[in-house]
Amino acid sequence: MLFLDGYTFTQANDTRWRAKTLKRRWTCSTRARYGCKAKVFTVDKWIVQRFNEHNHPKPKRPEY
Ligand SMILES: [Zn+2]
Repeated sequence: MLFLDGYTFTQANDTRWRAKTLKRRWTCSTRARYGCKAKVFTVDKWIVQRFNEHNHPKPKRPEY
């Protein structure tokens, strides 16, 4: 789970990517519910790219 700017992200289950690179893709944890397309890419523990446009308000509490 990744916590960023009040939103939570879950790691995408993308094994092909992982095999080739350390880059990980995270999608908004409400993606299934709201179809939110916000996502974040990380390499190791660093955020390298953000697409932080959510189509919903911030959750009041982080969803673990
Ligand atoms: Zn979102």
